[in-house]
Amino acid sequence: MYELPELDFDYDALEPHMDEETLKIHHGKHHAAYVKKFNDSVEGTEYEKVELRDLIVDLDKIKGDIQTPIRNAGGGAYNHSFFWEILTPEKDSGEPLENTAKAINESFGSYDEFKKQFSEAALTVFGSGWAWLVVGEKGLEIVKTPNQDNPMSVGLKPILVIDIWEHAYYLKYRNLRPDYIEAFFNIINWKAVEKKFLE
Ligand code: MN
Repeated sequence: MYELPELDFDYDALEPHMDEETLKIHHGKHHAAYVKKFNDSVEGTEYEKVELRDLIVDLDKIKGDIQTPIRNAGGGAYNHSFFWEILTPEKDSGEPLENTAKAINESFGSYDEFKKQFSEAALTVFGSGWAWLVVGEKGLEIVKTPNQDNPMSVGLKPILVIDIWEHAYYLKYRNLRPDYIEAFFNIINWKAVEKKFLE
């Protein structure tokens, strides 16, 4: 049983970067639906009591028809929980913390160059998907995943993500995905990213 997590902030707390109505529907309807669908899918199966994170890491080992709902609904449940964790109201946001900042500089040269490459990746996600900052073999990397796929399924450790499904921004930003991406940088919870980096 995977539970819809409560947010650490109110639905209107990320205004004006992420509007109240979008966040309310995104968390209360979209995310909640993924959670329900995932729980319904694994109920009564051998996967019912396995941690969702472990299912996603070992997705390739799951055989049969159930792999698809675990990938899609389970991925949707997990990815959104992850997304909420790395968001914070603007007053708490800022710059990458010590270890993350050092890794960003080592892998991208500077924060500005990282921001440029991450934004470009987010902008070029085709269709619905996500852009991630992950820890790979040679340091930090930026990767994109389609649908509700997660980089953990290919052995990468995600530390930051932006949701590029239109439901994440269309009510406020309409077709202006670049504006949504730019706004996202104002509400990144770098403390949470640092924690994920060090885990
Ligand atoms: Mn979403």
